[in-house]
Amino acid sequence: MSGLTHATVQGGVRPLLEARDVGRRFSVNAGLFRARRVLQAVRGLDLELHRGEVLGIVGESGCGKSTLARMLLGLTPPTSGRICLDGQDIAGIDRKALARRVQPVFQDPYSSLNPRRSIASIVAMPLEVHGIGDAPGRRRRAIEMLERVGLPSRLAGHTPSQLSGGQRQRVAIARALVMRPEIVICDEPTSALDVSVQAQILNLLLDLQQEFGVSYLFISHNLAVVEHVATRVAVMYLGRIVEEADARTLFASPRHPYTQALLASVLTPEPGLGVPETGLGLSFPDPMNPPAGCAFHPRCARAMTRCAQDAPVLSRDRSGAVACHLFPGSSRP
Ligand code: SF4
Repeated sequence: MSGLTHATVQGGVRPLLEARDVGRRFSVNAGLFRARRVLQAVRGLDLELHRGEVLGIVGESGCGKSTLARMLLGLTPPTSGRICLDGQDIAGIDRKALARRVQPVFQDPYSSLNPRRSIASIVAMPLEVHGIGDAPGRRRRAIEMLERVGLPSRLAGHTPSQLSGGQRQRVAIARALVMRPEIVICDEPTSALDVSVQAQILNLLLDLQQEFGVSYLFISHNLAVVEHVATRVAVMYLGRIVEEADARTLFASPRHPYTQALLASVLTPEPGLGVPETGLGLSFPDPMNPPAGCAFHPRCARAMTRCAQDAPVLSRDRSGAVACHLFPGSSRP
Protein backbone atom coordinates (compact mmCIF):
# COMPACT_ATOMS: atom_id res chain seq x y z
CA MET A 1 0.00 0.00 0.00
CA SER A 2 1.41 3.38 -0.96
CA GLY A 3 1.88 6.07 1.65
CA LEU A 4 -0.90 8.07 0.00
CA THR A 5 -3.44 5.29 0.16
CA HIS A 6 -2.53 4.66 3.77
CA ALA A 7 -3.05 8.32 4.65
CA THR A 8 -6.34 8.48 2.76
CA VAL A 9 -7.76 5.45 4.57
CA GLN A 10 -6.45 6.63 7.91
CA GLY A 11 -7.78 10.14 7.61
CA GLY A 12 -11.19 8.95 6.42
CA VAL A 13 -11.52 12.08 4.28
CA ARG A 14 -11.41 11.75 0.51
CA PRO A 15 -8.92 14.19 -1.02
CA LEU A 16 -10.32 16.67 -3.52
CA LEU A 17 -7.48 15.93 -5.93
CA GLU A 18 -5.30 12.86 -5.66
CA ALA A 19 -2.33 11.56 -7.63
CA ARG A 20 -1.59 7.91 -7.05
CA ASP A 21 1.69 6.36 -8.19
CA VAL A 22 1.72 8.79 -11.13
CA GLY A 23 4.52 8.75 -13.71
CA ARG A 24 5.16 10.55 -16.98
CA ARG A 25 7.76 9.58 -19.60
CA PHE A 26 8.71 11.58 -22.66
CA SER A 27 10.57 10.34 -25.70
CA VAL A 28 13.20 12.97 -26.48
CA ASN A 29 15.03 13.55 -29.77
CA ALA A 30 18.75 13.12 -29.01
CA GLY A 31 19.99 14.45 -32.40
CA LEU A 32 20.67 13.33 -35.95
CA PHE A 33 21.53 9.59 -36.27
CA ARG A 34 21.09 9.06 -32.55
CA ALA A 35 18.43 6.94 -30.86
CA ARG A 36 15.67 8.81 -29.05
CA ARG A 37 16.11 8.99 -25.30
CA VAL A 38 13.57 8.61 -22.52
CA LEU A 39 12.97 11.38 -20.03
CA GLN A 40 11.13 10.21 -16.93
CA ALA A 41 9.85 13.60 -15.80
CA VAL A 42 7.64 12.30 -12.96
CA ARG A 43 8.14 8.97 -11.21
CA GLY A 44 5.78 7.10 -8.88
CA LEU A 45 4.38 10.27 -7.37
CA ASP A 46 1.69 10.30 -4.67
CA LEU A 47 -0.05 13.53 -3.75
CA GLU A 48 -3.25 14.75 -2.10
CA LEU A 49 -4.92 18.14 -2.19
CA HIS A 50 -7.70 18.68 0.33
CA ARG A 51 -10.53 21.22 0.25
CA GLY A 52 -9.58 24.72 1.26
CA GLU A 53 -5.84 24.12 1.51
CA VAL A 54 -2.90 25.65 -0.30
CA LEU A 55 -0.46 22.88 -1.17
CA GLY A 56 2.94 24.24 -2.17
CA ILE A 57 5.12 22.15 -4.51
CA VAL A 58 8.71 23.25 -4.40
CA GLY A 59 11.84 22.13 -6.23
CA GLU A 60 14.53 23.24 -8.66
CA SER A 61 13.81 23.76 -12.33
CA GLY A 62 13.79 20.41 -14.16
CA CYS A 63 12.39 18.47 -11.19
CA GLY A 64 9.07 17.76 -12.95
CA LYS A 65 6.88 20.39 -11.28
CA SER A 66 5.39 21.78 -14.48
CA THR A 67 4.79 18.32 -15.95
CA LEU A 68 2.93 17.50 -12.74
CA ALA A 69 0.85 20.69 -13.13
CA ARG A 70 -0.09 19.80 -16.70
CA MET A 71 -1.10 16.28 -15.67
CA LEU A 72 -3.27 17.59 -12.82
CA LEU A 73 -4.96 19.95 -15.29
CA GLY A 74 -5.65 17.06 -17.67
CA LEU A 75 -3.45 18.66 -20.37
CA THR A 76 -0.85 15.85 -20.35
CA PRO A 77 -1.97 12.29 -19.56
CA PRO A 78 0.18 10.29 -17.14
CA THR A 79 1.96 7.26 -18.61
CA SER A 80 1.36 5.36 -15.35
CA GLY A 81 -0.78 5.73 -12.25
CA ARG A 82 -4.05 7.63 -11.76
CA ILE A 83 -5.18 11.16 -11.01
CA CYS A 84 -8.58 11.42 -9.33
CA LEU A 85 -10.84 14.42 -8.75
CA ASP A 86 -13.18 13.75 -5.86
CA GLY A 87 -12.55 10.03 -6.32
CA GLN A 88 -13.13 9.97 -10.10
CA ASP A 89 -10.26 9.29 -12.50
CA ILE A 90 -9.81 12.47 -14.57
CA ALA A 91 -9.05 10.30 -17.62
CA GLY A 92 -12.81 9.62 -17.67
CA ILE A 93 -13.89 13.24 -17.18
CA ASP A 94 -14.75 15.33 -20.22
CA ARG A 95 -12.16 18.11 -20.84
CA LYS A 96 -14.77 20.88 -20.52
CA ALA A 97 -16.22 19.42 -17.32
CA LEU A 98 -12.72 19.19 -15.84
CA ALA A 99 -11.89 22.78 -16.84
CA ARG A 100 -14.98 23.95 -15.03
CA ARG A 101 -13.61 22.53 -11.77
CA VAL A 102 -9.84 22.90 -12.20
CA GLN A 103 -8.30 26.06 -13.65
CA PRO A 104 -4.69 27.15 -14.22
CA VAL A 105 -2.72 30.33 -13.61
CA PHE A 106 0.56 30.03 -15.50
CA GLN A 107 3.87 31.82 -15.10
CA ASP A 108 3.79 33.92 -18.21
CA PRO A 109 0.74 36.17 -18.56
CA TYR A 110 2.24 37.56 -21.79
CA SER A 111 1.76 34.32 -23.69
CA SER A 112 -1.34 32.96 -21.94
CA LEU A 113 -3.65 35.86 -22.94
CA ASN A 114 -4.97 36.36 -26.47
CA PRO A 115 -3.33 39.65 -27.60
CA ARG A 116 -6.19 40.54 -29.97
CA ARG A 117 -9.06 40.35 -27.48
CA SER A 118 -10.15 42.89 -24.88
CA ILE A 119 -9.52 41.86 -21.31
CA ALA A 120 -13.27 41.75 -20.59
CA SER A 121 -13.76 39.24 -23.42
CA ILE A 122 -10.72 37.22 -22.23
CA VAL A 123 -12.25 36.91 -18.75
CA ALA A 124 -15.72 36.16 -20.17
CA MET A 125 -14.37 33.48 -22.53
CA PRO A 126 -14.73 30.50 -20.11
CA LEU A 127 -18.38 31.50 -19.51
CA GLU A 128 -18.91 31.65 -23.28
CA VAL A 129 -17.27 28.26 -23.86
CA HIS A 130 -19.52 26.68 -21.23
CA GLY A 131 -22.64 28.45 -22.53
CA ILE A 132 -23.28 30.31 -19.28
CA GLY A 133 -25.56 33.37 -19.49
CA ASP A 134 -26.04 35.74 -22.41
CA ALA A 135 -23.42 38.13 -23.83
CA PRO A 136 -24.34 41.18 -21.66
CA GLY A 137 -24.52 38.99 -18.53
CA ARG A 138 -21.14 37.43 -19.26
CA ARG A 139 -19.60 40.87 -19.79
CA ARG A 140 -21.10 42.08 -16.52
CA ARG A 141 -19.67 39.09 -14.64
CA ALA A 142 -16.27 39.57 -16.30
CA ILE A 143 -16.13 43.23 -15.28
CA GLU A 144 -17.15 42.36 -11.72
CA MET A 145 -14.35 39.80 -11.63
CA LEU A 146 -11.85 42.30 -13.05
CA GLU A 147 -12.79 44.75 -10.31
CA ARG A 148 -12.46 41.99 -7.73
CA VAL A 149 -8.84 41.38 -8.79
CA GLY A 150 -8.06 45.10 -8.58
CA LEU A 151 -8.54 46.22 -12.21
CA PRO A 152 -10.86 49.18 -12.74
CA SER A 153 -13.74 48.72 -15.20
CA ARG A 154 -12.35 51.48 -17.44
CA LEU A 155 -9.65 48.96 -18.50
CA ALA A 156 -12.24 46.41 -19.70
CA GLY A 157 -11.79 47.39 -23.38
CA HIS A 158 -7.98 47.38 -23.24
CA THR A 159 -5.92 44.61 -24.84
CA PRO A 160 -3.20 42.74 -22.90
CA SER A 161 -0.40 44.76 -24.57
CA GLN A 162 -1.77 47.91 -22.93
CA LEU A 163 -1.33 46.45 -19.45
CA SER A 164 1.67 45.94 -17.16
CA GLY A 165 2.89 42.43 -16.27
CA GLY A 166 1.16 42.54 -12.90
CA GLN A 167 -2.11 43.70 -14.47
CA ARG A 168 -1.92 40.90 -17.02
CA GLN A 169 -1.50 38.35 -14.25
CA ARG A 170 -4.57 39.85 -12.53
CA VAL A 171 -6.48 39.24 -15.79
CA ALA A 172 -5.26 35.61 -15.83
CA ILE A 173 -6.43 35.20 -12.21
CA ALA A 174 -9.82 36.75 -13.01
CA ARG A 175 -10.21 34.37 -15.96
CA ALA A 176 -9.27 31.38 -13.76
CA LEU A 177 -11.80 32.29 -11.07
CA VAL A 178 -14.75 33.55 -13.12
CA MET A 179 -16.19 30.01 -13.32
CA ARG A 180 -15.82 29.54 -9.53
CA PRO A 181 -13.59 26.44 -9.88
CA GLU A 182 -12.85 24.21 -6.90
CA ILE A 183 -9.12 24.09 -7.63
CA VAL A 184 -6.62 26.51 -9.14
CA ILE A 185 -3.24 25.15 -10.20
CA CYS A 186 -0.79 28.05 -9.95
CA ASP A 187 2.44 27.26 -11.83
CA GLU A 188 5.10 29.84 -10.87
CA PRO A 189 2.45 32.60 -11.00
CA THR A 190 4.78 35.38 -9.83
CA SER A 191 8.12 34.31 -11.32
CA ALA A 192 7.86 36.61 -14.36
CA LEU A 193 6.92 39.66 -12.29
CA ASP A 194 8.95 42.41 -10.64
CA VAL A 195 9.68 41.69 -7.00
CA SER A 196 7.64 44.74 -5.99
CA VAL A 197 4.55 43.29 -7.72
CA GLN A 198 5.01 39.69 -6.55
CA ALA A 199 3.77 40.29 -2.99
CA GLN A 200 0.65 42.10 -4.27
CA ILE A 201 -0.26 39.16 -6.51
CA LEU A 202 0.41 36.61 -3.75
CA ASN A 203 -1.76 38.54 -1.29
CA LEU A 204 -4.49 38.86 -3.92
CA LEU A 205 -4.43 35.08 -4.48
CA LEU A 206 -4.72 34.50 -0.72
CA ASP A 207 -7.64 36.96 -0.40
CA LEU A 208 -9.45 35.27 -3.27
CA GLN A 209 -8.82 31.85 -1.77
CA GLN A 210 -10.59 32.95 1.40
CA GLU A 211 -13.42 34.62 -0.48
CA PHE A 212 -14.16 31.81 -2.92
CA GLY A 213 -13.14 28.82 -0.76
CA VAL A 214 -10.98 27.54 -3.59
CA SER A 215 -8.07 25.10 -3.09
CA TYR A 216 -4.69 25.96 -4.59
CA LEU A 217 -1.89 23.79 -5.74
CA PHE A 218 0.92 26.31 -5.79
CA ILE A 219 4.07 25.41 -7.70
CA SER A 220 7.25 27.42 -7.26
CA HIS A 221 11.02 27.13 -7.18
CA ASN A 222 11.00 29.99 -4.66
CA LEU A 223 10.80 28.82 -1.05
CA ALA A 224 10.03 32.29 0.25
CA VAL A 225 6.97 32.46 -2.02
CA VAL A 226 5.79 29.01 -0.93
CA GLU A 227 6.33 29.86 2.74
CA HIS A 228 4.16 32.96 2.26
CA VAL A 229 1.16 31.13 0.82
CA ALA A 230 1.20 27.40 1.58
CA THR A 231 -0.54 25.54 4.37
CA ARG A 232 1.24 22.31 3.39
CA VAL A 233 4.39 21.79 1.34
CA ALA A 234 5.71 18.94 -0.80
CA VAL A 235 9.35 19.02 -1.93
CA MET A 236 10.15 17.49 -5.33
CA TYR A 237 13.47 16.16 -6.56
CA LEU A 238 13.94 14.53 -9.97
CA GLY A 239 10.29 13.64 -10.44
CA ARG A 240 9.57 12.40 -6.92
CA ILE A 241 8.25 13.83 -3.68
CA VAL A 242 11.07 13.56 -1.13
CA GLU A 243 9.42 15.35 1.80
CA GLU A 244 5.98 16.59 2.73
CA ALA A 245 4.72 18.33 5.86
CA ASP A 246 2.55 21.19 7.00
CA ALA A 247 4.26 24.42 6.09
CA ARG A 248 5.16 25.50 9.61
CA THR A 249 6.76 22.14 10.44
CA LEU A 250 8.68 21.92 7.17
CA PHE A 251 10.19 25.38 7.44
CA ALA A 252 10.93 25.06 11.18
CA SER A 253 12.48 21.57 11.08
CA PRO A 254 13.12 20.16 7.60
CA ARG A 255 14.06 16.47 7.69
CA HIS A 256 15.25 15.53 4.20
CA PRO A 257 18.84 16.61 3.42
CA TYR A 258 17.62 18.15 0.14
CA THR A 259 14.99 20.25 1.91
CA GLN A 260 17.65 21.32 4.40
CA ALA A 261 19.92 22.35 1.51
CA LEU A 262 17.11 24.27 -0.21
CA LEU A 263 16.38 26.17 2.98
CA ALA A 264 20.09 26.88 3.46
CA SER A 265 20.20 28.29 -0.08
CA VAL A 266 17.58 30.88 0.88
CA LEU A 267 20.02 32.12 3.49
CA THR A 268 22.85 32.63 0.99
CA PRO A 269 23.44 36.12 -0.41
CA GLU A 270 22.17 35.00 -3.83
CA PRO A 271 19.06 32.91 -3.15
CA GLY A 272 18.14 32.85 -6.85
CA LEU A 273 21.03 30.49 -7.45
CA GLY A 274 19.09 27.63 -5.89
CA VAL A 275 20.87 24.90 -3.96
CA PRO A 276 24.24 26.19 -2.73
CA GLU A 277 27.40 24.40 -3.73
CA THR A 278 28.65 24.31 -0.14
CA GLY A 279 28.46 20.76 1.10
CA LEU A 280 26.69 19.50 -2.01
CA GLY A 281 29.38 19.41 -4.66
CA LEU A 282 27.60 18.59 -7.90
CA SER A 283 24.92 20.56 -9.68
CA PHE A 284 21.44 19.26 -10.60
CA PRO A 285 21.79 15.88 -12.38
CA ASP A 286 20.67 15.09 -15.92
CA PRO A 287 16.98 14.06 -15.65
CA MET A 288 17.53 11.71 -18.64
CA ASN A 289 20.24 9.90 -16.73
CA PRO A 290 19.21 10.01 -13.07
CA PRO A 291 21.55 8.54 -10.44
CA ALA A 292 20.75 5.04 -9.18
CA GLY A 293 19.48 4.52 -5.65
CA CYS A 294 18.53 7.79 -3.97
CA ALA A 295 18.62 10.32 -6.83
CA PHE A 296 20.01 12.93 -4.45
CA HIS A 297 22.98 10.82 -3.30
CA PRO A 298 25.71 12.44 -5.49
CA ARG A 299 24.94 15.80 -3.81
CA CYS A 300 24.07 14.60 -0.33
CA ALA A 301 26.52 15.32 2.49
CA ARG A 302 24.98 12.49 4.54
CA ALA A 303 24.96 9.77 1.87
CA MET A 304 25.71 6.22 3.01
CA THR A 305 26.76 3.18 0.99
CA ARG A 306 23.21 1.92 0.51
CA CYS A 307 22.08 5.32 -0.82
CA ALA A 308 23.81 4.64 -4.15
CA GLN A 309 21.95 1.33 -4.58
CA ASP A 310 18.53 1.46 -2.90
CA ALA A 311 15.92 4.11 -3.63
CA PRO A 312 14.21 5.17 -0.37
CA VAL A 313 10.42 5.08 -0.33
CA LEU A 314 8.19 7.91 0.85
CA SER A 315 7.25 6.97 4.39
CA ARG A 316 4.49 8.70 6.34
CA ASP A 317 4.34 9.47 10.03
CA ARG A 318 2.67 12.06 12.24
CA SER A 319 5.04 14.82 11.07
CA GLY A 320 4.36 14.26 7.37
CA ALA A 321 6.31 12.16 4.89
CA VAL A 322 9.97 11.73 4.01
CA ALA A 323 11.95 9.57 1.56
CA CYS A 324 15.45 9.13 3.00
CA HIS A 325 17.36 6.17 4.47
CA LEU A 326 18.12 8.27 7.55
CA PHE A 327 14.50 7.55 8.52
CA PRO A 328 13.75 3.86 9.17
CA GLY A 329 10.36 3.73 7.41
CA SER A 330 11.97 4.76 4.10
CA SER A 331 14.17 1.68 3.76
CA ARG A 332 12.79 -1.50 2.27
CA PRO A 333 13.83 -4.56 4.35
FE1 SF4 B 1 21.06 11.50 1.49
FE2 SF4 B 1 20.91 8.83 1.55
FE3 SF4 B 1 18.92 10.31 2.52
FE4 SF4 B 1 19.35 10.19 -0.10
S1 SF4 B 1 18.72 8.50 1.21
S2 SF4 B 1 18.93 12.02 1.08
S3 SF4 B 1 21.58 10.10 -0.17
S4 SF4 B 1 21.02 10.20 3.32
